[in-house]
This record gives sequence, C-alpha cells and structure tokens, in this order.
Amino acid sequence: MSVLTYNPYENAQAQFDRVADIIRLDDATRQLLRQPMREYHFLIPVRMDDGSTKVFKGFRVQHNDARGPAKGGIRFHPHETADTVRALAMWMTWKCSAVDIPLGGGKGGIICDPRNMSDGEQERLCRGWVRQIVRNVGPNIDVPAPDVMTKPKHMLWMLDEYETITGGRYPGFITGKPVGMGGSLGRTEATGYGVIYTLREALKDKGLNPSDTVASIQGFGNVAQYAARLFIELGGTVVAVSCWDNVDRKAYTFRKKDGINVDELMGATDSFGSIAKNKARDIGYEVLDAESWMEQDVDILIPSALENQITPANFNKISPRVKMIVEGANGPTTPDADELIKQKGIYIIPDFLANAGGVTCSYFEQVQCNMNYFWEKDEVLEKLDTKMTNAFHAVNNLAKKDDLYMRDAAYVIAINRVAEAVKKRGWV
Ligand code: GLU
Repeated sequence: MSVLTYNPYENAQAQFDRVADIIRLDDATRQLLRQPMREYHFLIPVRMDDGSTKVFKGFRVQHNDARGPAKGGIRFHPHETADTVRALAMWMTWKCSAVDIPLGGGKGGIICDPRNMSDGEQERLCRGWVRQIVRNVGPNIDVPAPDVMTKPKHMLWMLDEYETITGGRYPGFITGKPVGMGGSLGRTEATGYGVIYTLREALKDKGLNPSDTVASIQGFGNVAQYAARLFIELGGTVVAVSCWDNVDRKAYTFRKKDGINVDELMGATDSFGSIAKNKARDIGYEVLDAESWMEQDVDILIPSALENQITPANFNKISPRVKMIVEGANGPTTPDADELIKQKGIYIIPDFLANAGGVTCSYFEQVQCNMNYFWEKDEVLEKLDTKMTNAFHAVNNLAKKDDLYMRDAAYVIAINRVAEAVKKRGWV
C-alpha cells in the first residue's frame, strides 16, 4: 500500500467545500462543519512485558454531535496522525447522517502496532486510553467502537476500565463488544455485508446480475473478508484480494482466476493475520505485487484497506472493464482521482455510504443494550439490509435526478441533515 502523500483531512475538507458550494451553505454553518468541534490529544504510558515503560500517543476527535452522541471507532496504527483521525471523525458525521441514525461523528486512535504487542500490553494500552479520556466520552456523549486493528476484545477491556472508574454498568459506552458481553449478533459481518447490500442494489439498478460480475478486493481484514463472503454467496466471483505482510512490511495481492475462497485463504494466515505466501501458493494462489489488485480484468473494485489508495499516480492501472468502485475503506480515493473516475464514467458507491453498515449495526447494538434484550442474527441483518438499501436508493435517486456524482449526492443528503440539526438547535 502506498506511502501517505495525501493528507486525509485536507481531502475530507476539499470534498466538503465542493458540496458546501453546490448547496450554497451559509458561512457560519460551513465553518462549523468543515472542522471538528472538539479534539483531545494525550499520552498513554504503558508498562511493557519486559518491565520497561513505553509512552504512546492517543487521540479522540469529536467532529459534530448535533444529531446525537459522537460515534466512531478507535484505530490502532503505527502511521496514525491527528489529521487522519480528524478526517475519519468528519466522515463519521456524514456516515451516520447518510444512513439517518441519531448519532454524530467522532474517531479515536493510538499510534501503535498491536501486531507487535502481547495481549497484556494491548490490554494495558486500552485501559490507559480510557483513563485519559473518561471525562469526555460516555453513552450519552461519545461512543467508541472498533476500527482498523481493534477488535471486540479491545472494546471489552475499554468497557471494563470505563465501568471500573465510573462505578456502574454502562454497556452503551462502547460498541463492537463480544457477543454475549453486550455485543450484537451480526456486528462482525455488518460492515462487509453492508458494502455488498449497496453493491447488490447498484447492480440491480443497472440491470446486472451479481453472477455475471467479477470483483477484486483490496484488503483482507474484517471488511474485505465479509464483503468477499457475501458477494460470493450472491453468485459473484472474487478473483483477487490483497493483504499486508507483517514480516516483509509490504502488501501482496493473492489471485485465483476462477475465484478465491475466503475460508481457504483464512486457513493460510499466519499469527499476524497476514496470508502466508508459501501456504497460499500451495493451495493454488498466485502471489502478485501490492497494487495488482487494481490491475485485474474485473467489473468491480472494492478497496477495503486504508485511505489514499486510488490516486492519479496509479489510476491508469485500472482496467477499462471496471464499471464500479465500491469503497469499503474510509477515504480510499483522493479528490484528484475522483476527477478521473468521473471522466471515465465509472460508477462509485462512496465510503461513508458503502461502509456505513458497521456503525448502523453499532447503533442497533446500543438499542439492544438499552433494552437489555438482544435480537436474533437474522433480525439484525434484516434491519441492516433495510437501512443500507434505503440509504443507497436515496443517494442514487438524487444523483440521477440532479445529475450528481454519487459522492456529491451522498454529501448533499448528509450535510443537509447535519446543517438542519445545528440550525434547529440554534447553534448558527
Ligand atoms: N469504525 C467503523 C467505521 O468507520 C465503525 C464505527 C462504529 O461502529 O461506531 O464506520
């Protein structure tokens, strides 16, 4: 995956400014919405297993909470930056608004690499993050969740620390918890499945059958795995996925021309969750370079890894056959690449619509926690499908009606809802 040469926060602001012009947003609302309302930066000292103490840097950014408590994940990543967290917090506001759930936008992060930390070190890091921010988060203030490299076990450690400090049981403090410990069935699948629910609707709208289409996916984390699974279940073929190799410190693409099998590939992962090259070759996969995923002769590209992956520098690698890009990751396309996508007439389902399934299911998790009554998995997934399908059609219909690029149409709907909330509250 490419080195960060773009600043995601500048990208998020450029996207916002474009649409603020289209909808002629007044100046005060524009100033309020183009940057985060609050942000926290702090240090987290952690006792390591060898007895030394390491000091980590943590963040929480609350972009906007006019429609409800701030909501968004916490990323663990060695390249985390304040600007990345700002951009991701902003995208969370638009995401919750696009699917019309009563939540605002936030994001957190810690500069760290959990792949090189023991479970005990990770637990102390999670507890340390909560201790630094406990006064400024909570079920009615700001509700964290998993994101890149954070998992249900991290959420439970964070919940336990929060409850230990505050002296009660507050399962609505955090989402993405393990099932049976306040988590919702379907939360693990939700983001990847949501990506495919929107893709299914887009294909239907274009008169295409999933079984006549071929996709290539960037990533092999939670989003990519479940997106691949559901797309294959619907009859589609996935010819390639890419995956970070923690030993070589670079990504590779794993290709099987007659279609990958997720279980088979998961059986070939090593202890870091990277697909082991030799094991993959043994079971019939070709191992290609990092950007090969986007060079495949496919109909659909599903970038589901990190931000800034499709840029003008690599855009020419995309096959002329590609008709759709479905953004499973947050911010995978740079604004200048958007211009090339428009010129080529490739249809895009933008990130904060396509990958909103995760936070939508987090919202269901909160609702179930508040009722202390948990739904069956089918019920969760059915409700998720309804939300994603409705949100997709609202955006797609607006894009058709006003001849807008899909990303701009999604922004028009999302920004208008938040602008209305800040105005009705009397903030501007
Ligand atoms: N981290 C996920 C996202 O970017 C989920 C956030 C949540 O569940 O609050 O949408």
